[in-house]
Amino acid sequence: MLACRQRALAEIDLEAIRHNVRRLMRDLPDGAVHCAVVKANGYGHGAVPVARAALEAGSTWLGVAAVAEAEELRAAGLTAPILIFAPMTGAELEAAVATGADVVVWSAPFLAAARRLGARVHVKFNSGMCRLGVTGEEVRELCAGAARDGLLIGLMSHFATADEADTAFFETQLRRFTVLAGELEAVYPGLLCHTANSAATLRGPRAHFGMVRTGIAMYGLAPSNDDPFKNDLRPAMKLCSYVAGVRTVAPGDSVGYGRRFIADAPTRIGIVPIGYADGVRRLLTNRGDVLVAGRRCRITGTISMDQLTVRLPDDWGAPGDEVVFFGAAGDGVEGRPGEAWTGETGTRSDAADVPRILCEEVAQLLQTINYEVACDVAPRVVRRYRGAGPAA
Ligand SMILES: *Cc1c(COP(=O)(O)O)cnc(C)c1O
Repeated sequence: MLACRQRALAEIDLEAIRHNVRRLMRDLPDGAVHCAVVKANGYGHGAVPVARAALEAGSTWLGVAAVAEAEELRAAGLTAPILIFAPMTGAELEAAVATGADVVVWSAPFLAAARRLGARVHVKFNSGMCRLGVTGEEVRELCAGAARDGLLIGLMSHFATADEADTAFFETQLRRFTVLAGELEAVYPGLLCHTANSAATLRGPRAHFGMVRTGIAMYGLAPSNDDPFKNDLRPAMKLCSYVAGVRTVAPGDSVGYGRRFIADAPTRIGIVPIGYADGVRRLLTNRGDVLVAGRRCRITGTISMDQLTVRLPDDWGAPGDEVVFFGAAGDGVEGRPGEAWTGETGTRSDAADVPRILCEEVAQLLQTINYEVACDVAPRVVRRYRGAGPAA
């Protein structure tokens, strides 16, 4: 019975990724393309399987932050154009060119190095983020230099506040980019202009230009950390474990390091073999919830590196039960496949009323964003994929 169970399992639904890509591409203007952002191991979901699923669903570009990430995609046999977003050392630039990836340019010395190596470049305009990118005047010079060698591919920028309710600064950045893109597209026909992240993409076509670069929404997570289902996005990852043991503690007994839970009555405690080294942050001690066989239970006692403990109701929770940290209950852990769920809201279903903890809820408790919760899922957590497409 226990043979197939994983102590810490991230189950990734590739059909959800494909659905989200199609959803994000739905409103793109004719001819505009989708860049699937798979940096940081696909926001924890696994870069190569996610990239494959996105390409199957219609993406034509891949975006990463590090040269090694581009190399991983190439080693897996993916031939789509790749853009590396982040700054690079000289050695990294050489590796980027060797792997056939495009690079981002925002300085004359870097452009000179890129030209020597024959790198395809996207010039970055600072429309207001003030991180990478330069002024319109400098952008014109860099574009002219890159175009001289036939290496100019794109003009890009990045939004600072596209996920916020107040759209004033988003509009300012959009206006600046629209003006410059219009000017440079006239000078360089075919120039690929792109500035939209997930949040800007969901705001509609005005920010789409020739390409959108979406990460978070492609994973079915909401850019503004609210409910992804409102935008018809489907969360792709579920992080789960199982009840490895149950004990009843007596009044006065404490559970775990630092005695941060002391029972005042006989209390059933479930032991779950997942901890902060798997990505369940220690800050969730006595605050976070999990779903034990579909029912919400509080993490109780200090989260340790490899284990945590949950408080179980008197009539719920047994060894072998699935424990979901985020994602939907059911179908997740081998040992109880497809078993009828009879929790607080009735019978189990595959519809939206299946018990679920959103990544966004965990992020809110941690005063961070869903991006960080997904990226926190550690390498030692086993990834299992479902919904794999036809073999390419
Ligand atoms: C990470 C990143 C994106 C994707 O942002 P999301 O908010 O996850 O959609 C787009 N563009 C650049 C330059 C990035 O670094």
